[in-house]
Amino acid sequence: MTQGGTPDFSATFTDIVAGQNAGEWLTGRRELFQYVDQVADDCAQRQELFTVLFVRLAGVREVNELIGYDAGEQIFLHGAARLAQSLPDGDIIGKISDDELLVISRDCNSPSCAIKGSQSAIEILQRPLRIDGQSCGLKPAVGIALYPADGMTAAELVRHAAVACTRASQDEAPFFAFFTKALGISAQAEFALQQDIRRAISKREFTLYYQAKVAVQTHTVCGAEALLRWPQQDGSVRMPADFIPIAERGSLMLPLGHWVLRDTCRQIKQWRDAGLMHAGASVNASPQQFRSPDWTRWVAETLTEFEVPPSALTIEITESCAMGDTELTISRVRALKQLGVKISLDDFGTGYSSLAYLTRFALDEVKIDRFFVQAMDTQPGNAKICASMIKLAHELGMTVTAEGVETHGQTALLEDLGCDMLQGFLFSHPMPAAAYGTILSQPALVKA
Ligand code: C2E
Ligand code: MG
Ligand code: MG
Repeated sequence: MTQGGTPDFSATFTDIVAGQNAGEWLTGRRELFQYVDQVADDCAQRQELFTVLFVRLAGVREVNELIGYDAGEQIFLHGAARLAQSLPDGDIIGKISDDELLVISRDCNSPSCAIKGSQSAIEILQRPLRIDGQSCGLKPAVGIALYPADGMTAAELVRHAAVACTRASQDEAPFFAFFTKALGISAQAEFALQQDIRRAISKREFTLYYQAKVAVQTHTVCGAEALLRWPQQDGSVRMPADFIPIAERGSLMLPLGHWVLRDTCRQIKQWRDAGLMHAGASVNASPQQFRSPDWTRWVAETLTEFEVPPSALTIEITESCAMGDTELTISRVRALKQLGVKISLDDFGTGYSSLAYLTRFALDEVKIDRFFVQAMDTQPGNAKICASMIKLAHELGMTVTAEGVETHGQTALLEDLGCDMLQGFLFSHPMPAAAYGTILSQPALVKA
């Protein structure tokens, strides 16, 4: 079906893909949904997980409108064939619409694997295509749904992966997103939740939990991360994944983030006044906060108001936040560091950038995302990724914290690799400030 390596666009999808030794290819949407339902049934019996990737090729519609539908179809087919060729054996790819594809990966049964699959798909689809002697580019976005957490049926999984894909295409990078409950709610429910969040901010209903960070050398507490919690009237506690994306979309992360900063500084002062002079904490900054022109001034004013030494505060930013507008990031980081606070790069490895590139931002700390940490004692590949991240971060003068440490095996490996700090349920769950204060006053308490 190919001529000189170039797909023949008069051929059908099946011809193109079958001719290139790729994963199997399903042409009809109904057939595709039936297949996903079959895999779901099978995985239910075997108690296995699998991944659905919803891939949207944003450039196709523009080509349809600007040049014509034939050209749009050619580009879509070319991209689909490329993606199909790159998939591991056993993966199934199918067409959902004129610019959307579905990839079903039975062997991909963890978030880290789904991230790798998404990154690889994006990388392959972003490479320029030559159609009729002209170079054109696709703008891919990938939404991820994991069975069974994000749905038990094809209809649910595909819908949720599509919702995540829409979210991913709104971001500047990394162009993939996991489905979360917060993404799945309707516009009306989202509006109602935003009203609730607004009210909860003004009534000071939010609270902060603190999760200890442990020094590898001594296995003693060397810091904490402040994490938002929203206690409900029925005694339950809402987690950040349920409300932060919605607060962000409703421009509420500025007031909420401001409260987080103030309350953390108030708490650091309280601990220090009680004699815990080494008390300090990290706060997570949302992209909205970080990009706000007032943010550095707020940080400076808050530190002064609560008499907190700047070195006791670390600000965590995510990779995608840092990568959004690099010149802005460089100037924000510089201004914050001039105040004396430390800057940490959160969830490292889930984004789309290299650590070397990130040195431009002169960061103090890198936090390796828990997806890499959690699979490291079972999948040697992940241990190698962590090893190279740690080595490079050290060469670049940054300290390294591993997130999501849950086992002694992970701890031992991370110690061997020279990681500086560990954070995870093995040492401490996030807890109310009073409970964390008790741990802080007994430095030898946190032992794995
Ligand atoms: P993060 O900043 O990467 O925080 C670490 C998350 O990993 C926390 O989830 C923590 O509870 C969880 N975690 C820690 N150790 C383990 C472990 O061993 N195993 C597992 N499975 N999980 C572990 P949490 O509290 O649900 O927060 C989720 C995310 O929400 C945070 O990820 C952060 O991105 C965001 N977030 C939380 N508080 C704030 C905030 O005040 N402002 C902003 N902008 N984002 C926040
Ligand atoms: Mg964090
Ligand atoms: Mg993190």
